[in-house]
Amino acid sequence: MAQIELKHVSKKFKDDVVIEDLNLTIKDGSFTVLVGPSGCGKSTTLRMIAGLEKQSGGEIWIGGRCVNDTAPGQREVAMVFQNYALYPTMTVRGNIEFGLKNKGIGKQERQTLISDISEIVGLTPHLDKKPQNLSGGQRQRVALARAMVKKPKVFILDEPLSNLDAKLRNQMRTELIQLHKRLGTTFVYVTHDQMEAMSMGDEIVVMDKGMIQQADSPLKLYHDPVNLFTAQFIGTPA
Ligand code: ADP
Ligand code: MG
Repeated sequence: MAQIELKHVSKKFKDDVVIEDLNLTIKDGSFTVLVGPSGCGKSTTLRMIAGLEKQSGGEIWIGGRCVNDTAPGQREVAMVFQNYALYPTMTVRGNIEFGLKNKGIGKQERQTLISDISEIVGLTPHLDKKPQNLSGGQRQRVALARAMVKKPKVFILDEPLSNLDAKLRNQMRTELIQLHKRLGTTFVYVTHDQMEAMSMGDEIVVMDKGMIQQADSPLKLYHDPVNLFTAQFIGTPA
């Protein structure tokens, strides 16, 4: 059970209020997409869930426990970033293995995990390559594999496809949806692209100016927007 709850969460940077009284329940096992214009607070929200940023007020609950004072490594949340953040001097295998060594997982188990997960994300032929010798899509798969080996309860993906060309982006969207089905884990996915949001999410959270405008299924959002912002944002193609 890894339902995520944000209760009256706020965030200030100095005097700048960037998140205001955010209340949100992300269902266990859902593919939830946070969508909104650039600067509306999507990344900050994800970073607070992952524990990389401390909220200024309110509570965050994951899997039925309050994680306000829980370190990022103890939250069972894995984050996949936009810029991949791979170690350039390590091979693909090394990149995937790094976090496992830190966790004290033995060599045999590490090897099994790496081969299983490489197979799922299609990296098996590339394990001995360095990141500089990979395509954008392959780098993105390494970033995913690195998150997957930790077996988190929640995957957090912050605009993971924005550096890829349109064709690859489409392919990766399909792969991510399949991966979500296969793992059954909660996915929280951020994009500023409404078409991407509508095609991927089973729950969509529309944000603007640090506030949630509407949280609903794609169908409900499309047919029943609660305000003008949502109507225009969802109705206007990217
Ligand atoms: P999004 O991901 O939706 O584009 P962000 O969460 O990155 O938006 O940013 C929301 C707002 O918070 C922006 O106005 C941004 O400038 C501000 N912000 C984000 N991180 C910091 C920071 N570390 N210090 C000061 N302001 C920040
Ligand atoms: Mg962002």
